[in-house]
Amino acid sequence: MSLPDLDLNRRILVLYVGGTIGMRASPDGLAPQRDLPAALAAHLGPWAESLPLYSIQSAVDPIDSADAAPEDWLTIARFIAERHGRYDGFVVLHGTDTMAYTASALGFMLAGIDVPVILTGAQVPLEVEGSDALENVVSALTFAACPSLAGVGLAFDGVLYRGCRTTKVSSSDFAGFDSPNHPPIARLLPVPAMDLAALQRPDGTEPGFTIPDHLDARVLSLRAVPGLPTAVLDAILDMAPQGLIVECYGSGTVPRLDGHMQVFLERAVRRGIVTVALSQALHGGIRLGAYAAGSALARAGVMDGRDMTFEAAYTKLHFLLAQDLPPVMARTLFTRNLIGEIRD
Ligand code: ASP
Repeated sequence: MSLPDLDLNRRILVLYVGGTIGMRASPDGLAPQRDLPAALAAHLGPWAESLPLYSIQSAVDPIDSADAAPEDWLTIARFIAERHGRYDGFVVLHGTDTMAYTASALGFMLAGIDVPVILTGAQVPLEVEGSDALENVVSALTFAACPSLAGVGLAFDGVLYRGCRTTKVSSSDFAGFDSPNHPPIARLLPVPAMDLAALQRPDGTEPGFTIPDHLDARVLSLRAVPGLPTAVLDAILDMAPQGLIVECYGSGTVPRLDGHMQVFLERAVRRGIVTVALSQALHGGIRLGAYAAGSALARAGVMDGRDMTFEAAYTKLHFLLAQDLPPVMARTLFTRNLIGEIRD
């Protein structure tokens, strides 16, 4: 291991909140178990000499991350914030299905944190032969013990990504995550390396966390699809969301639907719904106004989500809307780069 500054005396707290990594077969299929800490400690035994000091805790009720809700992001953020100062780094063992959402949400709530918070999980349970669990935990512990790293990252298959830039790209490959519009921060394989430009370094200032009391805003999404029924647009307005993500095609086009889309978007913006456009394409983000078929978005005053992932945009809306900011402030902050989640 030759990352520049791995420090084996760092104290790392590992928290299991659920996911395949700690699951076992049940009559209904794989389900999370609370005894992961003991099993993991036994598996990590032979690695002890090359790992930092760590302790492992399990949530009382680990879940399949499909069941995760914004309140769970809050619970994890509070857990870390309450223990910040007592540990030199944190590892969160999480289900892969919604890990990118949690990584993004923690990034916003723990902005400025001066130690690494590394999320990881596995495609195959720890106790199943050929599992990727141990390798991912060892990688996460290694990254969590690097004093020059700070902020929320996601480690998978030997690669460390900026958490708020990640998305799940495979439900079976060990390389399950990618950071499509941002380079990885570090990798252990094939050769240990760090991208110093991508690094978030502790700057010596005391972090000030913003952990809202509740994360219960209504945030909806509208995915552009060929043949989109206009009744869907009416149903969205009837639900009176506070935030709306329009998932456009390519660089920012949507079906015009004989003018219905324009009317819908204008109503949404006029009603104060924080309305954002993102691209369905994995790479490149959107450029509002590039095509006539996307002009309705710009004309209505929909915000340009540029190259944000869906996960980052969704959690950012929750984070901002929870703070009861005046809508104009929420809109301004949404387009601002808060934690490296969006191209400047
Ligand atoms: N369904 C699981 C979860 O997200 C999948 C996994 O962990 O890989 O909790």
